[in-house]
Amino acid sequence: MAKGQQRDFYEVLGVSKTAAVDEIKAAYRKSALKWHPDRSPANKEEAEIKFRECTEAYSVLSDPQKKQIYDTYGHAGLSSAGGGSGFDGTVFQDFHDIFGDFFGFEDVFSGGRRGRSRAQRGSDLRYDMTLTFEEASAGVTTKIKLPRQEYCEACNGTGAKKGTGVAACQTCGGRGQLAYQQGFFTITRTCPACQGAGQIIRERCQECRGQGRIEREKTIELRIPPGVDTGTRLRVTGEGEPGPNGGPAGDLYVVLDVKEHPFFERRGADLYCTIPLSVAQAALGTELQVPGLSGDEKLKIPEGTQSGAVFRIKGKGLADPRGGGKGDLYYHVRVLTPTKLTREQRKLLEQLGYSLQVSNKPAERGSSLFDKVKDIFG
Ligand SMILES: [Zn+2]
Ligand SMILES: [Zn+2]
Repeated sequence: MAKGQQRDFYEVLGVSKTAAVDEIKAAYRKSALKWHPDRSPANKEEAEIKFRECTEAYSVLSDPQKKQIYDTYGHAGLSSAGGGSGFDGTVFQDFHDIFGDFFGFEDVFSGGRRGRSRAQRGSDLRYDMTLTFEEASAGVTTKIKLPRQEYCEACNGTGAKKGTGVAACQTCGGRGQLAYQQGFFTITRTCPACQGAGQIIRERCQECRGQGRIEREKTIELRIPPGVDTGTRLRVTGEGEPGPNGGPAGDLYVVLDVKEHPFFERRGADLYCTIPLSVAQAALGTELQVPGLSGDEKLKIPEGTQSGAVFRIKGKGLADPRGGGKGDLYYHVRVLTPTKLTREQRKLLEQLGYSLQVSNKPAERGSSLFDKVKDIFG
């Protein structure tokens, strides 16, 4: 701060030499508010210098010992007394941390506001729910029992026994906040004794033991749309915990876990399953009844179907829970090579083998032996 001539501290704050502590404080508050850098974004640099200046002036004039030195010896006295001009410059490094937003800053000087209502939003709740595959695919309406904190009706959520009222909190004197001196700054914190309410209960409500809230089991009807999956999160607005001091309730999040199906594999809204075919069925073709999501489906296997062929039935998959279209149903066929043949079967296959000719050369790349997905209609 050894930059040129320093202005007189009384002049900086605009107070007389005989000003009382309160007057100095009020003057500082006024200047600090005026020169707060956040308030002068266009002229931040100048504002910061002015702010430092008035803060430095306040740090000296608000301290009786430093004030006396300053009154007697001026700026020089403070430098020789050590610690520069008597204020710790590092404070400004955490300038924004200390003051935060502007209102936080104002709190520093107003000493906390009286009777402040601290309405807050209630907590969100999470409820984990397991569904069968069928429930998830068809959607379901179900009731869940949810233990949650509800308002105590006996005391209207105040926690005070009816007719006893409340008293000002002794710890914070009803301000709801406690001021701590840190250097020459005053930092306020929410009073731990009354959680910032500024009030303390005289006599506890017996119903809620002074909590103002009671844990109750609430039954909530849940409509789960079709097509939900593991990890789907449903939000039920306003069914979380009620907000303290009359604040809005939080939300309830229902997080779903869907059990796996014994043979349908899910990929998004599409479903896959594998159907075994005999060599004869694959070669000659056949018509099968295969299980679908809603009853059986007819699956026509054409002559000469290769192992690995995939058949699709459009629109028979799962619903999109957000209201989009439906997924598809895929049947993947696998031709089973017969094992443990009887003597007769072996003989028949040997005969077949003589008449069937297969070239055992490597198949050309790209010319897939396996069929592409085939759509089935009906
Ligand atoms: Zn109560
Ligand atoms: Zn308190």
